[in-house]
Amino acid sequence: QVSEPRAIAPSPTQTRDGRRVTLLANVMGIPDAQLARNSGAEGVGLLRTEFFYFDRPIPPGEEEQAQVYRAIADIFKNRPTVIRTLDVGGDKPLPWLQLPPENNPFLGLRGIRLLLDRPDLFKTQLRAILKASHGRQIKVMFPTVATLAEWRAAKALLDRAKAELDGEDRAYNRAIAVGMMVEIPAAVAIADRFAAEVDFFSIGTNDLTQYYLAADRTNPQVSPFANVLEPSVLRAIAQTTRAAGAVGVPVAVCGELASNPAAVPLLVGLGIAELSLNPRAIAAVKAAIARFSVPEAEAIAATALQLDSAEAVRNFLQQQCSALS
Ligand code: PEP
Ligand code: MG
Repeated sequence: QVSEPRAIAPSPTQTRDGRRVTLLANVMGIPDAQLARNSGAEGVGLLRTEFFYFDRPIPPGEEEQAQVYRAIADIFKNRPTVIRTLDVGGDKPLPWLQLPPENNPFLGLRGIRLLLDRPDLFKTQLRAILKASHGRQIKVMFPTVATLAEWRAAKALLDRAKAELDGEDRAYNRAIAVGMMVEIPAAVAIADRFAAEVDFFSIGTNDLTQYYLAADRTNPQVSPFANVLEPSVLRAIAQTTRAAGAVGVPVAVCGELASNPAAVPLLVGLGIAELSLNPRAIAAVKAAIARFSVPEAEAIAATALQLDSAEAVRNFLQQQCSALS
């Protein structure tokens, strides 16, 4: 009989001087969530629900979705599971979605725009998430939000889904936390306005970088320009944490940057207290955080924000790591 790998109980992650940093996992389904739990994740910070919608002739139904969301949240018991609503668009063809071809799919009908264009699809997912939220620590998050109008329209649809469930006498968490990805430059520019309305932010550094630098993350000819360590991108993170911090809104980072052990002291120094990352990187990131004190991390962040290029930032971060080893 093959025994299951023993789960690593999530021990708290902290800086050398004792500041807690929560390490959550980015997952794409039940096996991933199990791996995350066994790797010591303290919950799910980003459930990419796209996995549900690919490779099938019709989109998943409400109860089918609710069951999988429940199963994933139950893997983490009383810890949080952040479910991101569907983030697809013209770059990922879906058999059940007839979309006209686009010249610039990443600037096209993607993420929250597509969901608001297809309220039937969106509301089915919101109802599924709400149903699964009953008695669980589930939160909901919208992708690619750029304007207050999009945020408010998405919230209004969530309210409509709640009203429907009320009418059907179905249980759900009325106080479900609702947040948004910060991954479009327009959202950074008005982060203070969003901060007055959201329960949390999660910074998606992958898209934030491609949109800040106008460099397609999937095009090898220009992807080297989409470097997440560009000081412009770091300043965007700083601007977002400042706006959120002013009103006490929590900010996580869920892009690939959060999986880079050399970069996490910088994120902690920018005021980030929650990272959602690839479960395979948890052990290394935890160890990296433990090596720095908060004042050291803040000094690293302050210096990095003043450097001239991504390369200079990368060299500087490497120096900081090796200075400690
Ligand atoms: C991101 O853009 O950084 C992100 C986490 O979302 P995705 O990679 O799924 O677009
Ligand atoms: Mg993204």
